[in-house]
Amino acid sequence: MKNVVVIGGGIIGLSSAFYLQQSGCKVTVIDKDNFKDNCSYGNAGYVCPSHFIPLAAPGIIWQGFKWMFNSKSPFYVKPSFNKALIDWGLNFAKSATNKNVIKSAIPLRDISLLSQHEFEEWNKIPDFNFGYEHKGMLEVFQTEKVGEHAHHTVEKAKELGLDVSLLNYEELQALESQTKINAIGAVKFNCDSHVYPDKLMDGLKKLLLAKGVEFKYGETVQSFEKSNGVVTKVITKENAYPADDVVIATGSWSKEIAELVGAKISLMPGRGYSLTLEDSDYKLNHPMILAEGRVAITPMDGNKIRFGGTMEVVPTTAKPQYERINGVLNAVKDFLPEFQIEKPAEKDIWYGYRPCSADGLPYIGKIKKYNNVVIATGHSMMGLSLGPGSGKLVSQLINREPTSIDTKAFEVERFN
Ligand SMILES: Cc1cc2nc3c(=O)[nH]c(=O)nc-3n(C[C@H](O)[C@H](O)[C@H](O)COP(=O)(O)OP(=O)(O)OC[C@H]3O[C@@H](n4cnc5c(N)ncnc54)[C@H](O)[C@@H]3O)c2cc1C
Repeated sequence: MKNVVVIGGGIIGLSSAFYLQQSGCKVTVIDKDNFKDNCSYGNAGYVCPSHFIPLAAPGIIWQGFKWMFNSKSPFYVKPSFNKALIDWGLNFAKSATNKNVIKSAIPLRDISLLSQHEFEEWNKIPDFNFGYEHKGMLEVFQTEKVGEHAHHTVEKAKELGLDVSLLNYEELQALESQTKINAIGAVKFNCDSHVYPDKLMDGLKKLLLAKGVEFKYGETVQSFEKSNGVVTKVITKENAYPADDVVIATGSWSKEIAELVGAKISLMPGRGYSLTLEDSDYKLNHPMILAEGRVAITPMDGNKIRFGGTMEVVPTTAKPQYERINGVLNAVKDFLPEFQIEKPAEKDIWYGYRPCSADGLPYIGKIKKYNNVVIATGHSMMGLSLGPGSGKLVSQLINREPTSIDTKAFEVERFN
């Protein structure tokens, strides 16, 4: 039986563990924390084939530059001479082109649809309830300019075979009749679904434990033992774990871990914030993206509603800027005037670090230097959505099986 060590207990690590265990491997998952202090919990829970346009797209650089000087803006890059940031910034700027958008659409669609299919399979597993709902997502806009852009998005989505339609104001308001919406229209991505991430993560852990996957809490991987072109042991301060194969799924911390096995990836953390009302007086029927406000709202798991947004490209050690939640709440008040939500106490504001690749595509594949190491990270704004699909690909790569979809676009060392 193959002995696989998975480093990182976020959605990508746990999904990899799921398919590896299912394929007959003995799996150990190691995390530096308690498996909860990661990005896979407080996110908006979208399972989103709609997101076939990567973050690195034309216009983002200039828009980002304009937003940089506003503490409530949805996008912020902390200027610094940090080499990782400069390297990432240059690669990001090079990738923010129409060519990248066109090249990325099919790989992103394919991994999204694969992942959504796997979520639907998981949803059939007895006692594994994670609030999966397939009712689509509304991308709501207020201006003619964004409306024009929405038109193109709908055309492109249809070309990709995705189920999507353009709604005028009356059609949008009819879908959300209990809530006044200040907008002129919306794209309805019928192809999208959503989950309650906290329940998904807790349920997945429970399922893996029941299947015999071992969890190592509070151990930080610091180095690797290598011999004859393979990694033989994964080393933490406390232990050394023998491994036939290794998966690096350490989210925003992956760049440093990848370097320990001689692999260079262009990656920066993109911090975002969210707020969840556990028993909400405010009601929405559908998950909603407020296009100009860059905010995601998800009604989830019965009466909960989550508001999330902002993208701060900062090191994981940077102090959280809790006032950024005001930018999220102001956008909500602007689009949904009845949603008068005040800034909560800091303890009630969640934040997490999206692992942002420089071109908006994940890194999934083997590395060049050691034949038994697979990296799976860089999923940016889509890690939850792409979790099961990525996990399935990881297991196929480790088991040297044909992959469900072409993984060429996700090559790990593509910037070298
Ligand atoms: C506000 C917000 C909203 C979002 N909404 C969505 C959404 O709607 N849909 C979507 O698809 N995505 C969304 N995302 C993005 C998504 O949450 C991330 O892409 C995803 O959670 C990344 O998962 P991961 O497993 O790669 O990383 P993580 O969940 O961060 O897990 C990485 C793990 O690795 C561990 N680790 C790191 N270093 C070490 C080490 N040296 N040794 C051992 N363990 C280590 C960490 O402790 C951590 O547990 C959102 C993100 C934010 C911030």
